[in-house]
Amino acid sequence: MSEINLKKNFIAGEWLAGETVIENLNPSDLSDLVGEFSQANTSQLNDALDAAKLAQKAWAQVGLEKRYSVLMAIGTELIERSKELGELLSREEGKPLAEGVGEVYRSGQFFTYYAAEVLRQIGENADSVRDGIEIDVRREPLGVVAVISPWNFPTATASWKIAPALAYGNAVVWKPANATPASAVALTEIIAKQDLPKGLFNLVMGSGGSIGQALVESPKVNGISFTGSVPVGRGIARAAIENFTKIQMEMGSKNALAVMDDADVDLAVTLAAGGAFGGSGQKCTASSRLIVHSKVHDEFVEKLKVATEALKVDHALKEGTQLGPVVSDSQLQSNLKYVDLAKSEGCQLICGGERVERDTEGYYMTPALFTGSTNQMQVNREELFAPMACVIKVDGYEEALATVNDTNFGLTSGIVTTSLARANHFRRNAQTGCVMVNLPTAGTDYHVPFGGRGDSSYGPREQGRGAAEFYTIVKTAYISSGQPE
Ligand code: NDP
Repeated sequence: MSEINLKKNFIAGEWLAGETVIENLNPSDLSDLVGEFSQANTSQLNDALDAAKLAQKAWAQVGLEKRYSVLMAIGTELIERSKELGELLSREEGKPLAEGVGEVYRSGQFFTYYAAEVLRQIGENADSVRDGIEIDVRREPLGVVAVISPWNFPTATASWKIAPALAYGNAVVWKPANATPASAVALTEIIAKQDLPKGLFNLVMGSGGSIGQALVESPKVNGISFTGSVPVGRGIARAAIENFTKIQMEMGSKNALAVMDDADVDLAVTLAAGGAFGGSGQKCTASSRLIVHSKVHDEFVEKLKVATEALKVDHALKEGTQLGPVVSDSQLQSNLKYVDLAKSEGCQLICGGERVERDTEGYYMTPALFTGSTNQMQVNREELFAPMACVIKVDGYEEALATVNDTNFGLTSGIVTTSLARANHFRRNAQTGCVMVNLPTAGTDYHVPFGGRGDSSYGPREQGRGAAEFYTIVKTAYISSGQPE
């Protein structure tokens, strides 16, 4: 390990090495070392939290135009450098290059969007029910926000939390996923260039179980914004309630795409292939349940088999790759276990589901399509996070809707239909935070709320103007002006 290449934590305005180091390997090519990353210790975490508390007070006093400029500069740089940073992201996470570039570009848009929101912070006022008294209702910063992000959208998830946190006057202590530290350091380098109070923004790298746990247990944290798995989310909620820390959590899901008998089947196939297998299925919005009307079932399966087998699985940075590797060996092993589980539960494997080799050693597998599944099977109850989808045959719209809603999760759902009446009924009755009509379950905008129901989400929505609900705290002021002279 050479000291010069070691990527460090950013704490209280300084780049600091920790006690230990992890190596980050490219999942498309295990002989490619992406970098070596320092792991912060709990004493450094405490320094970050103390610095954040002081810096937040200064930042809350900074004028709106300055805050606007800082966010705009971060967003502009991300957009301008999306090709370079997208390549780094794809190299360490494994998503195809175009998706990596698109993610960094979108991350820039989160910052430019919230730059504009800085100037749109307008409160409410009202007359009191008591004579001569006026009421002013305004939002104030929450304080120090802990951001904990996953590896599957390492830059975008972090950006849709960090941008509103800073826009609404908060300080940030960010613990990124240990699988994708290079993207975290790259974003931090851009933020660190800005003229910010020292300690306003901190990057503390380390494992979830140590530094992440210490962060969420700290009484110095005023809010925790977390995206990740349900079990980790439950633990965070327990830790947060000890200190009455405000929480916002986006977790797993089990999204369904319903294909009706009146659907354009070719469109349904495109939406299913993209929604189920895009990003190797490692999306919280992936459609792992395909609920298909019996009248179009056989045609749909036949065409989806062709589309699935045509997907090119290869090195994330290779031209023409449509599916990169999965992120890690443990993810690959988990995926292969789910393939076995589907078989043992009685599903028929139509294609894929195998580990494959490419020119470089990596975590490659072919996308798996199963038929003959029922919604009660374990494989249709648990989040897979794999390039894998199971078809569930139904006999009508009502059954399809009931099946879509029969899950503990509730992030996104979709319907493919040419009936306006069904589309509208589905839009109103699907029990999910996001509903897609003739669109894939994955793919959302940044200027509107994002979140789910059930085990998928907890706390206020993310993104769009709704983010203010989490990142601010409301103050109601009563003002008596007395009698005019
Ligand atoms: P994890 O829950 O394992 O990890 C998420 C983050 O939490 C990581 O930074 C992790 O650190 C950290 N962490 C782990 N344990 C703790 C702990 N005890 N205390 C505090 N932090 C901890 O999820 P994955 O990274 O595997 O991401 C995949 C999950 O994320 C899927 O379930 C997916 O559905 C969900 N997700 C949800 C989205 C949504 O909007 N609903 C969007 C994207 C993903 P470390 O990396 O070191 O383990």
